[in-house]
Amino acid sequence: MSEHCIIIGASHAAAQLVSSLRQEGWEGKISLIGDEPHLPYHRPPLSKAFFVGEKTEEDLLIRAADFYVKNNVDLLLGSRVTNIDRDAKKVTLEDGAEISYTKLALTTGARVRKIPFTGSELAGVFYMRDLNDVKQTHKFTGPGKSAVIIGGGYIGLETAASLRKIGMSVTVIETMSRVLQRVTAPEVSAFYTRIHTEEGVDIRTEAGVDAIVGDKHVEGVRLADGTTVAADLVVIGVGVIPNIELAEAAGLTIDNGVAVDEFATTNDPDIFAAGDCSNHYNPIYDRKLRLESVQNATDQAKIAAKSICGKPVAYNALPWFWSDQYDLKLQIAGLSQGFDEVIIRGNSEQGRSFAAFYFCEGRFIAVDAVNRPKEFMMSKRALTTGQTADPVKLADESIEIKDVFN
Ligand SMILES: Cc1cc2nc3c(=O)[nH]c(=O)nc-3n(C[C@H](O)[C@H](O)[C@H](O)COP(=O)(O)OP(=O)(O)OC[C@H]3O[C@@H](n4cnc5c(N)ncnc54)[C@H](O)[C@@H]3O)c2cc1C
Repeated sequence: MSEHCIIIGASHAAAQLVSSLRQEGWEGKISLIGDEPHLPYHRPPLSKAFFVGEKTEEDLLIRAADFYVKNNVDLLLGSRVTNIDRDAKKVTLEDGAEISYTKLALTTGARVRKIPFTGSELAGVFYMRDLNDVKQTHKFTGPGKSAVIIGGGYIGLETAASLRKIGMSVTVIETMSRVLQRVTAPEVSAFYTRIHTEEGVDIRTEAGVDAIVGDKHVEGVRLADGTTVAADLVVIGVGVIPNIELAEAAGLTIDNGVAVDEFATTNDPDIFAAGDCSNHYNPIYDRKLRLESVQNATDQAKIAAKSICGKPVAYNALPWFWSDQYDLKLQIAGLSQGFDEVIIRGNSEQGRSFAAFYFCEGRFIAVDAVNRPKEFMMSKRALTTGQTADPVKLADESIEIKDVFN
């Protein structure tokens, strides 16, 4: 049989994989099967520029339609793969069609974690993951309307900022004691709480949701303390779970995601995985990671392409991420989980620019840089090369950041 690489899931990792496969010299057939009806598109603007109408659907495309034509890709969009038969090396689609492969890549990503609140089925209640979902929200947005966001993570806060931009009144409900609790230091949470409050968002922490209320259409969210916050729109952003079921049913190893080695290869040498669905070993942090970021989806897809083309190279990229809210560009390099010391450069209690440097047992492990591109760039380089920095100098703004990391 002639070479045929099937890619399941058509998003960030998949678009990069197509491009990298051809760059690495893959001459065989490529089929891209995605259950969404769209060409791979940039997901981050869904809660940002696209949400407020500053970007169109066309602007979201990762690659224009002719890219897939030029690269001779068989596109099967709006098609879901329901089974992988590893012995026969074929996949089955929802409509029963079977397609054979020689190499298979899983870029199935993640889906939203759904919480069965009473009233979640009401019109005007949304999760934030897919273009189709976000397009539907536009019917419920507009100046003077009100929104409740359930979840004070990045996506919840970005959505809150976007809704304020279009003149809606916004309340964020967070069960933990601070927003962004799982991912940042208290100083960074306090900064975002202050900014959102200054921008007119009502942030309620340690607040549980009792029910979403309304008659056909959402009218509000009743909290555990008995109060009800009025809402024309409810957006729930409480995390995602990896799409592993297909891989699991095929007998691939699962470990908080599809387990892959540093070559993006599963326990089947002809099956690869990349992006949000996969869990890989990261040598920089010496542990297994399942990341939810565009950086990981694209960088890991490049590694998968090399492996598929028989030129394996180990994956050892530094994780990085960003979040845009109002005029604030947060850039994150490294992983702060497990930090025992935070150094703040600048003033997080006033103004709109500072950086938080995270340390663990004296080792520099991550940075959150708000409107501080230099701090981000220098930190990213230092983290990649394993360089550390003097916390005292980091905190001292009279020393240029380039002189701290030299
Ligand atoms: C609103 C929002 C804002 C974000 N903002 C940022 C940001 O600012 N910065 C950042 O780095 N990251 C951000 N992210 C995260 C980022 O978008 C993801 O990390 C990225 O999309 C992961 O890409 P992926 O290719 O691994 O998977 P996904 O984008 O999850 O795509 C997987 C695709 O596979 C499809 N699929 C699954 N199973 C099957 C099947 N059996 N058959 C066919 N198709 C299937 C899915 O429907 C989906 O279309 C954001 C995400 C969201 C939702």
